[in-house]
Amino acid sequence: MSQKRIAVCPGSYDPITRGHLDIIGRAAQLFDEVVVAVVSNSVRKSKTLFDCDERISFIEEATAEWPNVRAEPFGTLVVEFARQIGAQTIVKGLRAISDFEYEFEMHQLNRMQAPEVDTLYLMASPQYSFLSSSGVKELAIFGGSIGDLVTERVARRLQEELAR
Ligand code: ADP
Repeated sequence: MSQKRIAVCPGSYDPITRGHLDIIGRAAQLFDEVVVAVVSNSVRKSKTLFDCDERISFIEEATAEWPNVRAEPFGTLVVEFARQIGAQTIVKGLRAISDFEYEFEMHQLNRMQAPEVDTLYLMASPQYSFLSSSGVKELAIFGGSIGDLVTERVARRLQEELAR
């Protein structure tokens, strides 16, 4: 029997956006299992708006239609986490040119740490090329319309947290 193909999609997901979901959904078609790895608060330098449990529950709800996707917290190097769960591949989304330099560097560093774990980059879909969690939070603060950018539950929680 051939080995299961497992991918890790790492990120802060504070909160998950439709841009993230686009990448996760495409990865779910390419791999047997996709693990959305959510950076836990203990290892983050800056504070997140939503705690790790809530960020994970947003992802679980938004990915419920894909049976081969699950979300887990992690607090180690991504390659370390990939090894722990038996994943051969890290999947990342690439937006405008600005993502490239950072990702290029991270790719080299990760390959040095774990040559057996490769990274696959999926180009952002055009409608989400400029979408980021921080941009959505900024819009929510000023009462902008975010219905097309995040799920209904995330939009409601953002409004509760920010539009005060
Ligand atoms: P953000 O940069 O929005 O804070 P994360 O740190 O949670 O997002 O990023 C997790 C992964 O999702 C990264 O690989 C990032 O490039 C990717 N990503 C984020 N937003 C998008 C998007 N709109 N389209 C494609 N990929 C994205």
